[in-house]
Parts: sequence; structure tokens; C-alpha cells
Amino acid sequence: MEIEPAEEVKEPPRIHRLDESVVNRIAAGEVIQLPVSAVKELVENSLDASSTSISVLVKDGGLKLIQVSDDGHGIRYEDLPILCERHTTSKLSKYEDLQSIKSMGFRGEALASMTYVGHVTVTTITRGQLHGYRVSYRDGVMENEPKACAAVKGTQIVIENLFYNMVARRKTLQNSADDYTKIVDLLSRFAIHHIDVSFSCRKHGAARADVHSVATPSRLNAIRSVYGLSVAQNLIKIEASDNDPSSSVFEMDGFISNSNYVAKKTTMVLFINDRLVECTALKRALEVVYVATLPKASKPFIYMSITLPPEHVDVNVHPTKREVSLLNQEVIVEKIQSVVESVLRNSNESRTFQEQTVEATPSVPSVTNNDLHLSPSPSGSKSQRVPVNKIVRTDSSDPAGRMHAYLYKNPQKYLGRDSSLTTVRSSVRQRRNLKETADLTSIQELINDIDRKCLLDIVRQSTYIGMADDVFALLQHNTHLYLANVVNLSKELMYQQVLRRFAHFNAIQLSEPAPLQELIMLALKEEDSDLESNENDDLKKKIAEMNTQLLNQKSEMLEEYFCIFIDSDGNLSRLPILLDQYIPDMDRVPEFVLCLGNDVEWEEEKNCFQSLAAALGNFYAMHPPMLPNPSGKGLEFYRKRKHGKHTQDGGNSCHVDGTAEEDEFEHELLSEAETAWAQREWSIQHVLFPSMRLFLKPPNSMASNGTFVRVASLEKLYKIFERC
Ligand code: ADP
Ligand code: MG
Repeated sequence: MEIEPAEEVKEPPRIHRLDESVVNRIAAGEVIQLPVSAVKELVENSLDASSTSISVLVKDGGLKLIQVSDDGHGIRYEDLPILCERHTTSKLSKYEDLQSIKSMGFRGEALASMTYVGHVTVTTITRGQLHGYRVSYRDGVMENEPKACAAVKGTQIVIENLFYNMVARRKTLQNSADDYTKIVDLLSRFAIHHIDVSFSCRKHGAARADVHSVATPSRLNAIRSVYGLSVAQNLIKIEASDNDPSSSVFEMDGFISNSNYVAKKTTMVLFINDRLVECTALKRALEVVYVATLPKASKPFIYMSITLPPEHVDVNVHPTKREVSLLNQEVIVEKIQSVVESVLRNSNESRTFQEQTVEATPSVPSVTNNDLHLSPSPSGSKSQRVPVNKIVRTDSSDPAGRMHAYLYKNPQKYLGRDSSLTTVRSSVRQRRNLKETADLTSIQELINDIDRKCLLDIVRQSTYIGMADDVFALLQHNTHLYLANVVNLSKELMYQQVLRRFAHFNAIQLSEPAPLQELIMLALKEEDSDLESNENDDLKKKIAEMNTQLLNQKSEMLEEYFCIFIDSDGNLSRLPILLDQYIPDMDRVPEFVLCLGNDVEWEEEKNCFQSLAAALGNFYAMHPPMLPNPSGKGLEFYRKRKHGKHTQDGGNSCHVDGTAEEDEFEHELLSEAETAWAQREWSIQHVLFPSMRLFLKPPNSMASNGTFVRVASLEKLYKIFERC
């Protein structure tokens, strides 16, 4: 019997030791990923050498030439032979030193790596020497004996033909135009942190340096000379610290942009223990504060220097030391975040609120009260309406306006649709974002309209005195008293906020999605409530159906630009935040949805955005609450209507069977109303007026349409008082 030939068994491949030069080249590619990484290492070496002046020259994005010259302490002649070997360093001798390392470098890898991927030449002179030495390196070793040469104080390191032996990387880099930009950006960052060092960065052949800073005692001066006046003049100083070993120990100081600063990209210059690093968590946390605090969709400029005990920082978590890991990072991020938030708010207020007498107290979020206001109506309510809060409720565990609401409850996560659609949408949004939305000319035109019509410094400089009645607030401006219509004002403010935040809203998440059709039916019935007839119900249904269909069709646009989210089942589940700390009166949702269907002009872009912004403005405006004001005549509304032995007597209570007077009222309803009115007044004083001072550009028409009415001059009043 013949034996079947066995399947050919593959011999296991032999394991062998890699050639050292291959190992080194692989490692080098990791440390020096881009020309800018080489520049970073070289500049850090110069800083470690106590230089006071560092200049960089770059040719062909760094691929042809990178030259870094400094005036530091130089390198000893005896050290030159091992200078570019791997793991040779003057900065660390035992592992424990890492705990307290102050220098940027410590791995002894940078120069070595450069010699594996480029041609390195070092010229250096130490103090007291008559001449310096020049020597070139390849693959970690000297190519020749150091040659004596004339030299100025310090060290000059030249790298030529970077990545000459890494074809693929060289090719990709040759096609990328931004290597030099990255180098300029890097030097700019160093220049505003190390303000006692002069930096310059120049392209080979260019007459002018792209970064040119001179040593200065003022950080703001440094920022001005590097990033320009437009940045420097819009910065606020910021400081924070903590010294509680059980939570965090750190000191932070820096500068952050204010509300006048406009940029499409965040600039975050972060130094931790003098190391230029990145910290995505902190960056995100601060971006969130900006979105939540400022009206414009501008990204911030942030310079921040954080100092921690060296043993709290692990500097050895990244080969290029780009990232560090911190003890108690989350606590530190949160603390810095809240300081930035309050500084931003205060700076806004102090900038324009010179005459503000009553302090806003943002620590009492309006939402808290709003939740009360949204509590279910008591049974036996006299209101004919079905309380909307039965259908629409905001989630009290998701209080918009508080930081963690933005941080942890990112509504994007709750999209009910299938994830592929979500992905597509978010990529569309990313592509469109900032640039395109800011470029939408119709929105720009609408914003310009506001700017052109700008009037009145009454809004900016008046003092809020109190509410004169349900609609008018009393204001003092210089020596005059004005009545200001808060409904008109808030409507206009909200309208303007929609345009300013266009496509960049945070969201109010409704705890339960509200069916559009029902909302519209409710609104239609409300309109008709006097007739008390059901005969038009079919017609109403038809209208509700059609409007729902229309809104479903427009849902993508509504979500994308206005953060009005309608799910595929025709439910409204999310609304935009127009002013932080403010949630509109949810009782008005049905009216708003009806208005979306009826009043928005969908055809032409500009009209459409305008009418949508107006509809939102009207919805979010601070109308008097639906329940009558119990502090005036409205109190009658809450008196129990009684049949039988309890009778009502023209408002004079009639006590039968010794019933106490207070039992005559619908207490729950009354307290709901009191809360709603108190809440509204709080919002008017602490949200509306402060925000108006910052953001409202009142149109001229407000001077003549009864929005502002001058009621008295204080001088005259004083004269009257004097006569009395
Ligand atoms: P590391 O900075 O991690 O020590 P490097 O490879 O970057 O490793 O540098 C090796 C050593 O070369 C440094 O420890 C330092 O002593 C010396 N050196 C490098 N650049 C300079 C410089 N510009 N001036 C003085 N010494 C330098
Ligand atoms: Mg180094």
C-alpha cells in the first residue's frame, strides 16, 4: 500500500537578531516623525543648554536643511565622539532621576535618531575656548575627527537631507506643503512661553523671519509680537491653583481669548512643567466652555502654563514626549474648566456692565426653577388646556446650562436613528462646519442687517430696577427712567442669538419625544378654544398631518442648522439653547410647532432662515406665563369655583362653616403660577438684561414702536421731592 505524500510542512522561519543599523533606523523614524519633530528636539536641547537666543533656518520644509543655532553652554570636546550614539545623555544617570527631571530631554535619543535619518553636522564651542569644533555624524558615529574651527558662543546643529533613506516618508512629505507652517507654529509656541529667550525662525533665502521674538518680561508683549495685536488685545489673564494633596496640587496661569476674538480653529498652547504638550481632555473641556458661554461660534486662543510637583507628572509616556500623564488629571481639568468659565462670564459682565447694580447669580440655574414650573398641573385645574408638560418635559437630570450637561450628555450620542446615518450626517457636518456655515451669505446678510440697524446705548448702560407690570420693566439710564417692553426685547435678542449661533447650538433634550401631530392639534384647538366646537376636528387633523409631513421633510435642515431635532417617527426631541441658563416656556411648544408649519417661508434660503429665527425668537421670548399673575388681579383666577353651599361673592370671600380664607384658593395651581412668575422675573433680571447688554443690537424701530418709553427724568422727580 502506498502512503499518501504528506502535505508539505512549512519550516518555521528562523529568528535572527536585526542589524543594529536597522533597529536604529526604525526607532529613529518613531522619534523623528516629521521635520518639525527634529526642530522640536533641537530647540529643546538648546533650551536645556541655557540658551538666551535660538534661531532656526529651514529649507524645503526641513527636508533639505534644518539649522538650529543657540548661544548655550556648548558641548565638551571629549563628549563629541559619543554625542550621537543612542542613549547618551548628560541629563539623566539613574531611573529615579526621572521623578524630578527638569530638562526637556533625558532619553538621549534625539541626536542619535537624526543621524540615522539625515546628515548631521555639529559645530560647538564651550566657555573659555579659543576655537570651536565641527564634526559630522552618520548612523550614530562620527564620520571624521572633530575639526577645529572658528565659532561663536554656543552650538549649531545642521541636519541635511532628512529622511534621505526613507523613500516613502520623503515622498509623502515632499507633497505636503505645511511642514514649514508646522515649524513656524512650534517656534511661536516656544516663543510665548520662554519669554526670556529670543527666538527666530526663517525660511532659507527669505529676508524676513516668520517668527521673531525678543526677550521680554511681559508675556502679553511676547504674544503680541508673535501672534499679533488682534490676538493680544483680546486676551484675559487667568490663574488657578489648588494645594490639596487629597484632590490636586497645581498652579496654572495663562491667557485666554475673550468674546471679541474670532477664529475658526482653537489655538491651545499648553506647557506642563515647562514642557510643550498636548492634552486633549483639557482642550475639549475648554472648547465646551466657550461654546456654552459666548454668543459667537468662535474657537478660543488659549495659552496655559501648568506647574505640578515633578513627581505628579509622568513625562515618559510618549516617545516624543508630546503627551504627559498627570496625577489627578480629571480633577485638574475640571478645576481649570470652572475657573475659565467664571472668568469668561465675569469679563463679559465687567466689559459692558458698568452700571449693573444687581449682581447676576449664575450659580442658580434657571432650569432648576423651570423644573418646578413644569411639574404636572393639579387635577381640577381651571385651565382648559391639556397641560403641555404631560407631553413635553425637559429632563431635570439633564439640566442644560450646567457644564456637565454639555460634557457628559452630549446629545449627539442619543440620536435615535441608525448609526450609519448618524455617521454620514456627522461627516457632512464636519465638512460643512465653521467654514461653510460662516460663509452662508444669507446668514451673513441677516447678521449685517442687525449690525447696520444698531442703536441705543440705553440697552448697554441702563440699570434694571424692576418689573413695572407683566410686560414692562423699569430701567434707569443716566438721569432718565424708561419702561422697556421685555417681550419685544427678548424676542429680538433671541432672534439675533439664533443667527449668531446658527449651526452651533447646544441642545435642550426633551426627556420624552413629543409627537408633532399632537402638538399641532393642541395648538389648533387652543386657537379655537372660544368656539368650543368639535366640528372642525377633521380639518384640524388634516392640517396637523400636512404640517407634520412638511416638518419631517425639513428635519435634516432643522437639525443641522437650528438644532431642532425631529425623529423619523415625527417626534420633537431636541431644541436649541439660545441663551445659556435659559429654557423657554415649554407651554409654548405647540404654538411654536404650528408656527413652524404655518409661518416659515421654506422656499427661499434667506427668508427661510429669517422666518425660522423669528419663530424661535417668538417661542423663546419671555412672554408672561400662561397662568395669570397671582400678585395682581390675576389672583381671582385661583379662587375655587364652588357650587352648592360655598358661593363666590364678587371676589369677597364668604366663610361658611368656618372655612379659613386660604382654603378658597386652588393652592397647587396658585403655587405653580407663583413659581412661574418668580422664575420669569429671575430670568428677566439675571439672564435677559445681562445678555442684552452683551449681545443685543437693538434695531432703530425699537425707539418708536413702544419698546422703550421714557417715563420721567430723575432731575424733575428730585425737584418735585425737594418741593415736598
Ligand atoms: P537628550 O536631550 O535626551 O539628553 P539628545 O540626543 O537630544 O538627548 O542630546 C544628547 C546630549 O547632547 C544632551 O544630553 C546634551 O548634553 C548634548 N546636547 C545636545 N544638543 C545640545 C546643545 N544645543 N547644546 C549643548 N548640549 C547639547
Ligand atoms: Mg534632547
